[in-house]
Amino acid sequence: MSTIRQISEIGDPILRHRSTIIPQLPDTQLDELILDLIATAEAANGVGIAAPQVASSLRLFIVASRPSPRYSHAPTMLPTAMINPEIVDRSGELVAGWEGCLSVPGQRGLVMRDRAIKVKYFTPQGALIQQELTDFVARIFQHELDHLDGILFPDRVTMPTDLISESEYLKIAFD
Ligand code: ZN
Repeated sequence: MSTIRQISEIGDPILRHRSTIIPQLPDTQLDELILDLIATAEAANGVGIAAPQVASSLRLFIVASRPSPRYSHAPTMLPTAMINPEIVDRSGELVAGWEGCLSVPGQRGLVMRDRAIKVKYFTPQGALIQQELTDFVARIFQHELDHLDGILFPDRVTMPTDLISESEYLKIAFD
């Protein structure tokens, strides 16, 4: 049984905190949070969500890429909980892409991210996963990792003209 939680929005100080490491796994107290994060992202057509977005300052996020009205070209994967995630290597090849955020409603911004990254994280059961992520999923990981450090995507938009409304974005995304 999961609950759709209220999503914190830009301006809420919780989104600017540095989240704390989860010291021990498995931790059954995380089970409900993980299920709720997955349900909350799905209900809001999100492709990822980080614990601080539901006011929990822990180093945990969900990557749940799938096509949706908000991201029509997203690849499909099972929602994956990533705990104490880190980037261990970056391709150095930066690519621009439009991002949105459930905590920044109605806006999109053009953000440069590494196209490929090597990452590590723990599963809820405590297994260490090391993998390479590319393209859209790598972008989600970098966006969600920023949430754990109190960074929101508008902070990374370098040109003021590259921050636009969601409805303007939909015009350029579907022509
Ligand atoms: Zn976000």
